Amino acid sequence: MEQDPNCIFCRIAAGQIPCAKVLEDEAALAFLDIGPLAEGHVLLIPKGHYQTLDRMPPEAAAAMLRHLPALAKAVQTATGCQGLNVLQNNGRVAHQVVMHVHFHLIPRNPGDEFHFNWPAGKYPPGRAEELARLTRQNL
Ligand code: 5GP
Ligand code: ZN
Repeated sequence: MEQDPNCIFCRIAAGQIPCAKVLEDEAALAFLDIGPLAEGHVLLIPKGHYQTLDRMPPEAAAAMLRHLPALAKAVQTATGCQGLNVLQNNGRVAHQVVMHVHFHLIPRNPGDEFHFNWPAGKYPPGRAEELARLTRQNL
């Protein structure tokens, strides 16, 4: 399993830096985010070092993501939140700061401080089909 000795999440996964641990197995680790967007904000990471999701082998992604449903339920029950966002940032432009894949589980409640700008657009005729075809070709 690849590790980066300069990566903060690799060091947490290796037990070199402490964390408030929620779940651990041979492939994945979940722990509380040190700078929570809401109380109970959890991070789920693979133990291997992959900078972004597109670089992950599907087996490593599956071994991590199999925990997501149970984690989502546990975070909701533990915090009593009404909803939950799962967020995964890839690349600096997408607000990724720690360059080791991680999924945020962010508890949500009415009137909380976490806001999205969600500028939904509209496709001109044919453009959605063209983009679907291009994306299919790159799978
Ligand atoms: P990103 O913006 O890369 O998606 O989010 C990185 C997250 O990692 C941030 O929410 C930040 O608070 C969290 N984080 C960074 N360093 C540490 C750390 O040493 N321990 C823990 N528990 N969380 C960290
Ligand atoms: Zn790492």
